Amino acid sequence: MSYIRTVCGDIAPEELGYTTMHEHTISNPRVLQTILLKSMPDMMKGATAFEGGADIGREKERREREGISGEAPELSIQGVINGMGLPRSNPARKLSDIDFYVNEMKAFREVGGQALVDCSPMPTGASLKVIRELSEKSGVKIISCAGYYTKASIKKKYFKKGEGYLQERVEQYLENGDGSCDARPGFVKCAISVVENEQICPQEHMAVRACAKAAKKYGTALHIHTAFPIRKPLVLDLARELKDEIGIDPTKVVFCHMDGFNIGFGNLVAQINHEGYEIDLPLQLARMGFNIGMDTWGGKPGDDKGNSMEWEPRKKLLIEMFDRGYGDHITLGHDFMSKGGGVQNGGFGCTMFPQMLREMVAEGRLDEAAVHTLTIETPARIMRIER
Ligand SMILES: [Zn+2]
Repeated sequence: MSYIRTVCGDIAPEELGYTTMHEHTISNPRVLQTILLKSMPDMMKGATAFEGGADIGREKERREREGISGEAPELSIQGVINGMGLPRSNPARKLSDIDFYVNEMKAFREVGGQALVDCSPMPTGASLKVIRELSEKSGVKIISCAGYYTKASIKKKYFKKGEGYLQERVEQYLENGDGSCDARPGFVKCAISVVENEQICPQEHMAVRACAKAAKKYGTALHIHTAFPIRKPLVLDLARELKDEIGIDPTKVVFCHMDGFNIGFGNLVAQINHEGYEIDLPLQLARMGFNIGMDTWGGKPGDDKGNSMEWEPRKKLLIEMFDRGYGDHITLGHDFMSKGGGVQNGGFGCTMFPQMLREMVAEGRLDEAAVHTLTIETPARIMRIER
């Protein structure tokens, strides 16, 4: 039997509908900001290691050698943090969290949206009760997750207790939810984002293994936040470990933010081609059976220029993945992370990729069958739980 576990209960996979595969609904912005700030020193250490002769050094050389134009953009941590909240002048500040996000979900519904995968694991998101209320009020089906985020968000004492303990916590949460109501999460999320000694840091590595084992045991999807400054060989090593050693079904795993690897933050590590995107890593992962998250279609007011410049390479990456026969390994999302990126603040919320897909169909670059695969079939295939 297979089913999809939403916060409002289990549904048949066919009932899921048009889905965005990577967003963050109500969360505690303070917790998010704290985690981000706490993560920065570790992440920057990883970036420095790159400068010391790892990929970024080779990448600059490579671009020169191959005559690829365009410098890697500046890494703006402050920009990310600034974009998180609503400015004082925005009347939406007066709304409750639920009302704010109901409006965002309404905008998503207007572009065809029916379901949303909420990628905030335990400490960063709201209680399941609140998420369920949002789902009920907005009419958008929401799938919530168990798991861990980056190193800075996981308590040190958990690591001391080891991988088995980390796994047990995830399994408990999958089984029982958070106690706020009888809703339960429907998949597992983890993160690789800190490099130490040119490896994924031991804590995140341990958490990923624990999450993978729990996801395998419970038959759920596993989403892996894969971001700066994690470099390509580390992603591929982990993919092999998950598949060969842990024995996870790669078709249930999403390596998130693969468009982030190509663009923006990820430009620091991506081996972009003359068209401005990287195809090699997504292709290698897809050939192994894994799914590729092209899930940072969101934007924030103030960086429209950067984003519009990024859309064309994204479209080309998407088309090339279809041309090469891996269109059904792609997931789409916006990584709508906080209120600042909402449509109520002039951002795109959860509305950009549906518009982009329509545009691509109108341009004759993508057909309706591909849109169906991307927005309906693949989400249901990945998110359905088989037990
Ligand atoms: Zn995210």
